[in-house]
Amino acid sequence: MIYTCDNCHFIFSRVSQPEQCPDCGKYAVRLADEAERQEYEERLKEPREI
Ligand SMILES: [Zn+2]
Repeated sequence: MIYTCDNCHFIFSRVSQPEQCPDCGKYAVRLADEAERQEYEERLKEPREI
């Protein structure tokens, strides 16, 4: 399942819904909608720039 954080808009994948955002630590995690899931999958295809 793909989830997103309403606070920082971090999109991530988890088997079950976490209470806290792994990025900012806020309790604002919800299921990602269709557009957010697509954004997440597009991001996986792109090479990471560090
Ligand atoms: Zn967050």
